[in-house]
Amino acid sequence: MTDHGPTEMADVAVVGGGIAGLVVAWELARAGARVIVCEADATAGGMLRSGRIAGVEVDLGAESFATRTTGVADLVADAALPLELTAPRAGGAQLAVPAREIPASDGPAREVPASDVSAPAGAVERHPLPRRAVAGLPADPAADDVARIIGAAGVARALQERALPLPADLAAAEPSLAELARTRYGSAVAERLVDPLCRSVHSRPASALRLSAVAPNLWAEFLRRGSLTAAVDALAPAERAGAAIGGIAGGMWCLADALRTAAERAGAVVRTQTPVREIRSTGAGAVLTLDGGAIVARHVVLATGPAAAGRLLGHEVAAEPVRLVTVAVVHPGLTAHPVGSGVIVAPGVPVDAKALTHANAKWAWLDAALNPDTHILRLSARDAGTGLRTHDEVATALRALTGVPVQATDIRALVETRWDDAVPAPGDGPTPTEALTAAALARGIHLTGAIAAGTGLASVIPHARALARELIAATTPVPAPHAL
Ligand SMILES: Cc1cc2nc3c(=O)[nH]c(=O)nc-3n(C[C@H](O)[C@H](O)[C@H](O)COP(=O)(O)OP(=O)(O)OC[C@H]3O[C@@H](n4cnc5c(N)ncnc54)[C@H](O)[C@@H]3O)c2cc1C
Repeated sequence: MTDHGPTEMADVAVVGGGIAGLVVAWELARAGARVIVCEADATAGGMLRSGRIAGVEVDLGAESFATRTTGVADLVADAALPLELTAPRAGGAQLAVPAREIPASDGPAREVPASDVSAPAGAVERHPLPRRAVAGLPADPAADDVARIIGAAGVARALQERALPLPADLAAAEPSLAELARTRYGSAVAERLVDPLCRSVHSRPASALRLSAVAPNLWAEFLRRGSLTAAVDALAPAERAGAAIGGIAGGMWCLADALRTAAERAGAVVRTQTPVREIRSTGAGAVLTLDGGAIVARHVVLATGPAAAGRLLGHEVAAEPVRLVTVAVVHPGLTAHPVGSGVIVAPGVPVDAKALTHANAKWAWLDAALNPDTHILRLSARDAGTGLRTHDEVATALRALTGVPVQATDIRALVETRWDDAVPAPGDGPTPTEALTAAALARGIHLTGAIAAGTGLASVIPHARALARELIAATTPVPAPHAL
């Protein structure tokens, strides 16, 4: 096995102690299996990570979860984790779009693509997200909250959607969501609503998505009714877009922390600062090589990021660097929460950030923990390599996105967090998931986490639990370590 260190035995060895690895470990340990988790970092949790800023422990990675699945709530309940689930405040989010003038008539015959309309350099408009829309497609194009974003000509064009015929071959040859929105509602809806929301919610441009995948019910309703507006009107939730999320009082990092404790109580071994260097498949399982030791396991679960998984599977995979800048700002102008929970930034807005979250406007527990007029804001860098490096650059972005005259000296703390191994947004080609799944399958290794389930806790947690159930069915506990 190894010439230089102890060899341990396990039913299941888990590579990666992010939330997925911890879920697998907890499930298997409580079913009586001997599980060892190897985590390269000094702490478990992966992208659920915290840091201290303005005297408060805050999320530096994921800060919420989608409630489209009950994955997080079920886990908290089933593991009896001492956590309080919480909803964001009702303020909603805003959309920043390039300021523009639209010609008076934007009918289908002489439509002006939104991107062709010149905007004064640096000019940004901010508006609340439309209350009734699905994937940015409005239920009522003439509603005030839609008209403010797409302009009068955009409204006039979008109102024609109900009268457009349904092409006979549409179901067989579904266009991209960008193309569908453009041909049905016009360019203003496609470019100023649908595309920015797709980039924010699905991390992909609308040109890389299909409505049947993003909102299958809406797609079916559209084909049935023949009008997208009528279908959205029938299905759009009454609440604002972006409201279908939840959080945890104290921060999402508490979930990983509490789950690690539960897994260890159930008997799992979680080793931090333990990078796995190699996985060698054998007839009866696999041998994991560590720095100074090895693990012999009947099953191996790989729950790392894509590049790390690729290295261990001998299959090179590109990852996506993600950079987040979290700041503590003292400014009374932010105390009225001028942008609600934050701002989604459309392409074309001349700001280095693609999204801003006003964390304490969004989460009441955080607001209660901060001194008056102190604010925590998170900016996702548009480019992981440049921009938002200095207090001046961050203050410029904050001014543009909040309208509040924040100066560099108002920024009391700045924490930059970088993840170099996030799952890239799927493009048109094969995804890393497909390649990694094939490579893992060939070697009898199980894959879970965002690399297998797609990014986001609502997908990652149910996937890891389902895999654990499969492994429980396939695993008979080996004797306790002292008996080996
Ligand atoms: C800035 C940011 C914000 C996000 N916001 C949200 C959000 O609000 N809501 C949401 O649902 N999702 C959000 N996500 C996505 C979500 O955090 C991830 O999809 C999820 O946490 C992935 O969990 P995981 O366990 O699959 O992977 P990870 O958390 O990446 O864990 C993988 C672990 O494997 C370890 N590892 C790597 N190589 C090795 C090795 N050789 N040996 C041992 N260990 C290794 C790593 O150190 C890491 O701890 C966000 C992500 C980021 C980066």
